[in-house]
Amino acid sequence: MADMNNSAIDVNVDVLIVGGGIAGLWALARLKQAGYKAVLLESEALGAGQTRYAQGIIHGGTKYALTGKLTASSEAVAGMPALWRECFLGKGEIDLSQATLLSDAHYLWSTSSLTSRVSGFFASKVMRARTNEVEKKSRPKLFDHADFKGQIYALDEPVFDTLSVVRAIAAPLIPSILAIRKDEFQHRGKSLTVESFDGQRYAFNYRKLVLMAGQGNRALLSALNIQTPEMQLRPLKMVIVRGGLQDMIYAHCMGASVNPRVTITSHFDKQGDIVWYLGGQLAEDGVNRSNTEQIEVAKKELAELIPWLDLSSSQWAVLDIDRAEVRKEGSKRPDTFFAEESDNVITAWPTKMALAPVLAEQVISMIDAANIARTPDDVLPCWPIASYAELPWQEEARWS
Ligand SMILES: Cc1cc2nc3c(=O)[nH]c(=O)nc-3n(C[C@H](O)[C@H](O)[C@H](O)COP(=O)(O)OP(=O)(O)OC[C@H]3O[C@@H](n4cnc5c(N)ncnc54)[C@H](O)[C@@H]3O)c2cc1C
Repeated sequence: MADMNNSAIDVNVDVLIVGGGIAGLWALARLKQAGYKAVLLESEALGAGQTRYAQGIIHGGTKYALTGKLTASSEAVAGMPALWRECFLGKGEIDLSQATLLSDAHYLWSTSSLTSRVSGFFASKVMRARTNEVEKKSRPKLFDHADFKGQIYALDEPVFDTLSVVRAIAAPLIPSILAIRKDEFQHRGKSLTVESFDGQRYAFNYRKLVLMAGQGNRALLSALNIQTPEMQLRPLKMVIVRGGLQDMIYAHCMGASVNPRVTITSHFDKQGDIVWYLGGQLAEDGVNRSNTEQIEVAKKELAELIPWLDLSSSQWAVLDIDRAEVRKEGSKRPDTFFAEESDNVITAWPTKMALAPVLAEQVISMIDAANIARTPDDVLPCWPIASYAELPWQEEARWS
């Protein structure tokens, strides 16, 4: 932390949020609606952390119910597709009408060899309520092929362009978001002094500090001398491919394990060409492979699962990215979002982008419980505003 003895501009806020990913932005919007004077600090660009790497699927729990039983995870996410859709229609708690809905449904497909297992799974009571088998004539175009012998189900899971969501939430809040230099801060009592991008220092006197900095929470907790909660990182090796693709597809391919064998979402690169973004078990297992090996495995997977696709002239690249979450024994995936308070500092991770609304709700109820006065949202200093991140596949250098 820098020694910052020079004078700083004092700013009194009810709530100070650190981190401009989906969690921090959703919380900022909801806190302001609730009448709190809230400011958000971002050290890189809005959406620059995990959020821009997310596939944008608003899970309704189907993926987590693959065992045929409802788990704590699947219950937590069950209401999220409806909540996000309402927001997209401009009738929800946040106006996402300017965001891009890439697909109203996510699909699940099986290859012929897995069909019997998948049928059994979908016949279960839990799954019947959540999915519909898609008739041949309504299938996504990619699967309208004589060589496709499997089954397709539509899941009630919309898919959003993640950065369009970030922009839709942040645009009306920009005056309340300050672009700061990451390592230049000092914490004393209930005051956090930071340095903006243009070198001006601001001393934020807060009533509650909310750490929603994703992976950055670990360094913040350590700088604030807070011992818990602990954070875990779970790596993924995602793959992107472009060239030779005609169809936009949003689908999991069901494999032999509980996790989808591969999850595909579709996006556009800077030139407007279709990019497929590949996750699922491929990305989980890929962390033990070199980039070259991972690309070879991805090629083989697609050749096996969608053999009629000609990817001989496609370009491939790998994205290494960690999921940051509260620590769980054995580095297991947390069941749901997480928020914990210690000394007026709330530390939170959504675990899934889809869960940002319920996490914001939880954080607000923790703040409400403290009965702090709500300060009228008076004019904030005119300060350097944060920029927006880019989608990884739109950064041309990634492809070389
Ligand atoms: C490959 C991948 C695919 C995923 N797909 C999905 C999906 O399809 N659906 C889904 O629901 N979830 C998905 N997720 C999970 C989802 O991306 C995350 O749960 C979510 O984006 C986390 O948001 P966040 O705001 O907590 O963190 P982040 O998005 O990481 O945001 C943290 C922000 O804090 C900033 N920051 C860090 N340190 C500081 C500091 N000291 N000062 C100021 N700012 C700081 C960072 O620059 C960043 O902007 C996926 C995750 C990955 C990795």
